[in-house]
Amino acid sequence: MTYNDATQEEITRAMETAWSAFQVYRNFSLKQRADFMRAIAEALEALKETVVPVAMEETSLPRERLAGELGRTVFQLRSYAAAAEKGEWLEARIDTAVPDRTPAPKPDLRKMLVPLGPVVVFGASNFPFAYSTAGGDTACALAAGCPVIVKAHPAHAHTSELVAGAILQAAEATHMPPGIFNHIHGAGFEVGEMLVNHPHTKAVGFTGSQAGGKALFDLAAKRKEPIPVFAEMGSINPVFLLPGKLEKDAETVAAQYAASITQGVGQFCTNPGLLIGIKGETLNRFTELLGKTIRETTPAPMLHAGIARAFHNHRSTALAQLDVKMVAVSAHTASEHEGAATLATAPGDAFLQNPVLHQEVFGPYSLVIQCRDAAQMLEVARRLEGQLTHTLMATEEDLHTHADLLNEVREHCGRLIINGVPTGVEVALAMHHGGPYPATTDSRFTAVGADGIKRFARPLCLQNFPDGALPDELKNGNPLGIWRTVNNELTREAIA
Ligand code: NAP
Repeated sequence: MTYNDATQEEITRAMETAWSAFQVYRNFSLKQRADFMRAIAEALEALKETVVPVAMEETSLPRERLAGELGRTVFQLRSYAAAAEKGEWLEARIDTAVPDRTPAPKPDLRKMLVPLGPVVVFGASNFPFAYSTAGGDTACALAAGCPVIVKAHPAHAHTSELVAGAILQAAEATHMPPGIFNHIHGAGFEVGEMLVNHPHTKAVGFTGSQAGGKALFDLAAKRKEPIPVFAEMGSINPVFLLPGKLEKDAETVAAQYAASITQGVGQFCTNPGLLIGIKGETLNRFTELLGKTIRETTPAPMLHAGIARAFHNHRSTALAQLDVKMVAVSAHTASEHEGAATLATAPGDAFLQNPVLHQEVFGPYSLVIQCRDAAQMLEVARRLEGQLTHTLMATEEDLHTHADLLNEVREHCGRLIINGVPTGVEVALAMHHGGPYPATTDSRFTAVGADGIKRFARPLCLQNFPDGALPDELKNGNPLGIWRTVNNELTREAIA
């Protein structure tokens, strides 16, 4: 199914309705927002049998994966709704007045996070549900009190249209203001650029390529009124294979990593694209074991022709670099739309000298770096750009011996894993899915977990307000029963 690109007039109309909706929605209670989000979750569940086959057709992803992802999306909406209502994210702070303080009286100060305004969301091609139309960014923005304008990903436009219908149905059922949600089609950069440039747009959520995220970030920074762009742009997710662990568990680690590299045809921003070890018999044995499973993998279709083309091109470029050797490739023939799992290797010196080897090959590809010794492994860690994740495969003794490596890698990532795989991102409050640039454009915030709501809100301090004029969140009686920091103490008690 094809959709026409939105015109400038349609975009202006959408942004104006979003702006009007904001004037109403920002004053809606936490419960009203949460009820809307729960209604979206319910509408999505009801849509499952219709939308999953459409998504299968558009993305080539299997039914089981898509049904699971829809379940994750529903869970996200419900758990962020619960978190929104709980109010912890508001960071409510109250410092009561001290009128008789000398030499000057202390005013009454009350601060909380308030919504930024309409948020434009660019969905991800690799998560047609969980990080697209009704995905994490949309859920967080609605929880924060912001209307949402989704720019549908052209690779799953029909899926997006169906999900948008479910959102609008939920909006009507819960009496949301018109314009609370807008769905815009557009294949090409123009539509996205117009949305980011519109004066009513107050923030952007993006999941996709580094080139796309950085371009939109730069565009937003050049506006007359610059706005934040929260872009999650992927990563090569380095894995350090420490000698004690590899000596002890090479077979288990190889099996774990074969599954992680090939899961979802490698189309995850947490795919482990770089495996770093110290050269020698043990690393050779691990590489052989991993290569054997990679060879046995059956290639599968990638998300869309553009992603398959990019995978083939980037893989060819990586394999053509000096001193890079192919270890294994899926033995079954791959058509041009399929991604054949590939394992390559290169010495530490080559990696340190050649920035091309630091770049992501989005798909089922991983490079084993053979370092001369522990000092070179540490040097590799120092040279890596910002990442979503770093992983150490290590015994306790390894961690002790390589304490400097552990100390180094934490500076370069948003999540540090010991003895696991980076794929599989839990939706939980303690999750951090982000990291220093170029993994994201703002390392302070997460794209997964209810703390992501804070991306779309800003602090507002109210000074000397009479109780009746305060929002419920900051009233003396604490009618919502939320946790607040009152005179430096965290409490749910009312103020006498
Ligand atoms: P993409 O090319 O970055 O596109 C994502 C969305 O942003 C699309 O709606 C696209 O619009 C829009 N866009 C991109 N650049 C833009 C610009 N300069 N101005 C305005 N709009 C722009 O990502 P993709 O199509 O999903 O996949 C391409 C590559 O992104 C992959 O090969 C992979 O490397 C990476 N990727 C990363 C992640 C991740 O999780 N971080 C996820 C998926 C893909 P149009 O499509 O209409 O041009």
